[in-house]
Amino acid sequence: MTTETDERWMRMAIEVARSKGSDPASSPLGCVIVHDGKVIAAERNQTQELPDATAHAEMMAIRRACEGIGEMELRGATLYSTLQPCGMCTMASIWSKVGRVVYGAGRADVHEMYFEARHIDTLTFIADAYRDDIAIEGGCLREECAKLYYPPDADLSQDEKANL
Ligand SMILES: [Zn+2]
Repeated sequence: MTTETDERWMRMAIEVARSKGSDPASSPLGCVIVHDGKVIAAERNQTQELPDATAHAEMMAIRRACEGIGEMELRGATLYSTLQPCGMCTMASIWSKVGRVVYGAGRADVHEMYFEARHIDTLTFIADAYRDDIAIEGGCLREECAKLYYPPDADLSQDEKANL
């Protein structure tokens, strides 16, 4: 169950996502990492600006959070993401030892262009992890978050499909 506190942090993640415009073609993703009630990282995806195909919002936020606290583990932290993390970011969440992942829109709420695998749901990675101290919960401000992205039935050209 997500709480009002979760919604407060997710609103911040939405603001971060919109910080450089909210065109769904630029995949506006926002990620906020919170530890002991404090924000230790707030990042938007920067794949095009850097350019760096791995510069997803969650990857950037994990890097900043680790730099900021001077540790490679983020135990006890919660990672908020406006969209269900992709496989790379889900694995990074496992490796960085965050305790909880909370996301807004899920796979079924957005176009398939935002995900890399046809059938593998990244929730499976969390469920199958050796760690038993990591939880993942979706649907926090689902509708507001889904508005940032192309809907499942959007008719997109080949050029617009980021995963091809
Ligand atoms: Zn990702």
